[in-house]
Amino acid sequence: MKKIKKNKKKKKFIGLIVLLILVIVISMLIFGGKKTDLILIKDLDVEINSEVTLLSFIDEVKNGNIISEDSKVDTTKLGSQELTIEVKNGNDTKEYKFTINIVDTTKPEIDARSEITTTVGEEVDLLEGVTASDNSKEEIEVEIKGEYDYDKEGEYELEYSAKDSSGNETTQKFKLIVVSDPDNMTFTTSKGFKGEVIDGVTYIDGILIANKTYSLPSDYGNGLTSITQSAFNKMNADAKSLGLNLWIASGYRSYWTQNTLYNNYVAADGKEEADTYSARPGYSEHQTGLAFDLNSVESSFANTDEGKWVKDNCYRYGLIIRYPKGKENITGYMYEPWHLRYVGVELATKLYNNGEWITLEEYFGVDSKYKD
Ligand SMILES: [Zn+2]
Repeated sequence: MKKIKKNKKKKKFIGLIVLLILVIVISMLIFGGKKTDLILIKDLDVEINSEVTLLSFIDEVKNGNIISEDSKVDTTKLGSQELTIEVKNGNDTKEYKFTINIVDTTKPEIDARSEITTTVGEEVDLLEGVTASDNSKEEIEVEIKGEYDYDKEGEYELEYSAKDSSGNETTQKFKLIVVSDPDNMTFTTSKGFKGEVIDGVTYIDGILIANKTYSLPSDYGNGLTSITQSAFNKMNADAKSLGLNLWIASGYRSYWTQNTLYNNYVAADGKEEADTYSARPGYSEHQTGLAFDLNSVESSFANTDEGKWVKDNCYRYGLIIRYPKGKENITGYMYEPWHLRYVGVELATKLYNNGEWITLEEYFGVDSKYKD
């Protein structure tokens, strides 16, 4: 009996607890659902100096209305920033605080040329006109990465580098091209001879070359060289003893004399025709002081006793027939039996070639063509 009574008391107690839980659950369902909930967007990182507004961070508001007005957020300084939003729920107004992060993840932008050309020995300011901009609005220094040498001909692959204070780095490739100074350079001819340009004057294997490819500076030359004059004198003395009569019809001609001559020929015959028999100023062998024209300066000179003797004997004085017959396409000039050039006895003998004249162009492996 006693035992049964006790069980009844226990059952009552359990029933009370169940009722209490039910009341809590129901009241939570009724009242708890009305609690305000502010849901923020996932990414609270904001790029520096970008335009964002306060409400752009709110994804959703549950049970309540935002009463804060939307306004621009100051994004000019890096770092965290606390923002406040007021929400009204019924008669209740509450402040919600959250933190955003002003960050800089944007790389600077570089504005620069992709190719810079200079000549050997001439330094250039590789940073001239180069600018870098960044969303941080800070001043960004541009650096040059890579190795180069102004004294060495070549193409150097370099990089501009710009870094902002947040460590964002941009690199941009550019090429520094160091070309040889056309007035002071060396080269090798197709026949393996060493060419050297010294202050605009070209020498191949030590022999000065002036033709349609290799020009002279306008201020070069000041008369027939003494070695050329004495070569003529010796040849003339020997010719005289044979009863031949030689004279220099035209020796040294300055750039400006040639300029007048050439322009007159162009005016008379046109440029194309003039180029076959007269050199442009700066390209005439007469400006070297190593060349001269004999006697009549006519093709008939070849058939005179003087012309015949000169053709087969001038080499013994170090002189050559510079524009031989049949070599027009090589020298760029028609046959000129009267035009002699001093090169020294050794080379002149080789070029004489037992009467089958070789041109300087053939011997050295160079051409004679105007660039335009
Ligand atoms: Zn001549």
